[in-house]
Amino acid sequence: MLSRRAFLGVARPSRGNPVRPPWALAESVFVDACTRCSACIEACPTGLLLRGDGGYPEADFTPGHAPDGCTFCGDCRTACTPGALKADQSWSLKAVFSDDCLAEQKVVCRTCGESCEARAIHFPPRLGGVAGPQLDALACTGCGACLADCPTRAIRILSMNTTANRGVA
Ligand code: SF4
Ligand code: SF4
Ligand code: SF4
Repeated sequence: MLSRRAFLGVARPSRGNPVRPPWALAESVFVDACTRCSACIEACPTGLLLRGDGGYPEADFTPGHAPDGCTFCGDCRTACTPGALKADQSWSLKAVFSDDCLAEQKVVCRTCGESCEARAIHFPPRLGGVAGPQLDALACTGCGACLADCPTRAIRILSMNTTANRGVA
């Protein structure tokens, strides 16, 4: 779990390091391939994608923006006829929890775990405290569905691959 200071430092939106749609090519290739047609944005059923800087599409994981996150339906990929969304893997995003989590205040809450269809959030017992969320990073798809219902907005979606094209939401 990250301290609030560290969490805000790494997890707020970064204009210079946008999160592209899933299956986006590496950033330097993506910006050449993408025609900024917005077809992916229009195709996304959850509303996660929006027009970002320069008219390029970005995934916006700001809490409250797109509660269902990404369902990996593939509609954006299908809509992208220029071929900017044809990477082999979707993305390397993972959920990150800050110490704003209610467990840090000894309050029981398992809302995020209940939101996670991938069952990537576990609550191991903590001696003398309240069990807090622990991520199974292999199981987490970075879908963002756990963000919406967190009562303290203690979750962000973070790129685990800082050398890749995806940034921090
Ligand atoms: S895979 Fe589906 S839900 Fe995810 S960004 Fe693309 S269109 Fe939206
Ligand atoms: S559909 Fe493809 S080319 Fe069009 S804006 Fe989206 S990523 Fe760019
Ligand atoms: S981002 Fe998706 S898969 Fe990962 S913990 Fe949250 S709900 Fe589960």
